[in-house]
Amino acid sequence: MRHTPHGYWLEEAGAVAPAPPLAAEVDADVLVVGGGFTGLWAAWHVKELEPEARVVLLEADGCGRGPSGRNGGFCNAMWFQLASMSERWGDEPALAVARAAQDGVDGIAAFCEREGVDAWFRQAGYMQVSTAAAHDGVIERALAATRELGVPEALTVLSHAEAMARCASPLFRAGALSPGGATVQPARLVHGLRDRLVERGVELFESSPVLALRDGGAGVEARTAGGGVRAGTAVLAIGGAARNWHGPLHDRLSVASSHIVITEPVPELLEEIGWTGGECVIDARALVDYFRTTPDGRIAFGWGGGRIAMGARLGGRSELDAEVVARVAAHLHAFFPGLAGRAITHAWGGPIDASPTHLPMVLPLPGGRAFVAAGYTGNGVGPSHMVGRTLASLALDLRDEPSRLAFVDPSPPRVPPEPFQWIGGEAIRAGIIAKENAELAGRQPGRVASAVAKIPELIGFHIGR
Ligand SMILES: Cc1cc2nc3c(=O)[nH]c(=O)nc-3n(C[C@H](O)[C@H](O)[C@H](O)COP(=O)(O)OP(=O)(O)OC[C@H]3O[C@@H](n4cnc5c(N)ncnc54)[C@H](O)[C@@H]3O)c2cc1C
Repeated sequence: MRHTPHGYWLEEAGAVAPAPPLAAEVDADVLVVGGGFTGLWAAWHVKELEPEARVVLLEADGCGRGPSGRNGGFCNAMWFQLASMSERWGDEPALAVARAAQDGVDGIAAFCEREGVDAWFRQAGYMQVSTAAAHDGVIERALAATRELGVPEALTVLSHAEAMARCASPLFRAGALSPGGATVQPARLVHGLRDRLVERGVELFESSPVLALRDGGAGVEARTAGGGVRAGTAVLAIGGAARNWHGPLHDRLSVASSHIVITEPVPELLEEIGWTGGECVIDARALVDYFRTTPDGRIAFGWGGGRIAMGARLGGRSELDAEVVARVAAHLHAFFPGLAGRAITHAWGGPIDASPTHLPMVLPLPGGRAFVAAGYTGNGVGPSHMVGRTLASLALDLRDEPSRLAFVDPSPPRVPPEPFQWIGGEAIRAGIIAKENAELAGRQPGRVASAVAKIPELIGFHIGR
């Protein structure tokens, strides 16, 4: 197994020539900070809405070298989150966000088709399965929300036999399928977007971390080591780094981590277990397992249970958390025992920008000329298209429907301050792991682990998808 700091997908997608760093004073109508999916889609939508707008994009490293180029590639249309969204925002606003998220996934399909971007987009459905009796309720709650809100077609019930027919694993119980969900090769999508933006005249500067951003008065001014940008408005799409930025997300994000392993091609095993339809699959744990296939028959398998403290460090030069990777590999083999003797070729990890509600947040900076977005909590690949559209509307001051979606929220819940967040987060993580291991083994979880695992819900910090 080889540790690839930036993940298998970037390696598969191939190298791109880096854009130059900013080395001058430039003016722009819209400044985008951050070349992950949120920033790239925001720039894309600005150019779609106002082709003449002068857009500058500043990326600290290279586009997609953060989480956007090394995630699982699951494109989530947020129907499994309808229940938690309606709890937070009410039924109609939640439905509007889920519909916009579905439009976002469909929009990624349309982008790839229209622009000739081969990002392996495949809309084969997003499946959630329960792997313990204690987790069945998670799926029932998701199904009940779609029924109660009048969109039963958004999720299809899967009996045990139906789930097994799509992908036979000894751990599966019953599940549900979101037919509108999809997968992509995330690094290929980043590269396709980056190329199309440059073709449309977006001025891209890489290796250009923004060191300071002044927001107020007539506009926004950003400084990098080599130059500056003066713009009418700005979008700050820097993922988990917003936690360290003195701004409104500073106390509204925590940074956890997730790790992925990928196997050598095993197409004959996929045939054997009937997993040839391309569905991506998650289980119903709070610290979620997630897995999908690739066109050459590999299985990519991730676990959302990485350490809290690792998150921040996994931003750029990622180190490998060997203990967590060993757990990920063990989970993979438990789901697919037929992999015995087959090689895991790559392993990597990355930071997760987690919000207390697990829902994305868009907030204005205090000066009102710039907007910051983050908080997807491991679910940004599909929703970033929608959030990017919202950011484009806000930047262009369009008072349209995307600018009013419920996640444009001036006051989302806060996270506990440090050091309680880290100490508490690690204790809670350990409690949840102990509780879920017991549940998966069919044992009654210990009282202490159960009590600790309940703390997040008690303090309003939602865990699980
Ligand atoms: C291992 C792993 C698996 C995941 N799996 C999935 C999945 O299957 N499906 C899913 O939906 N989501 C998944 N996610 C989450 C998903 O990757 C994110 O939600 C999404 O990529 C967020 O995109 P973003 O553009 O907001 O942030 P990022 O991708 O973090 O991009 C932010 C960019 O801002 C840049 N930046 C930071 N600070 C500055 C600065 N000061 N100046 C300039 N630039 C700066 C960074 O270099 C980075 O390129 C996963 C994440 C990880 C780590």
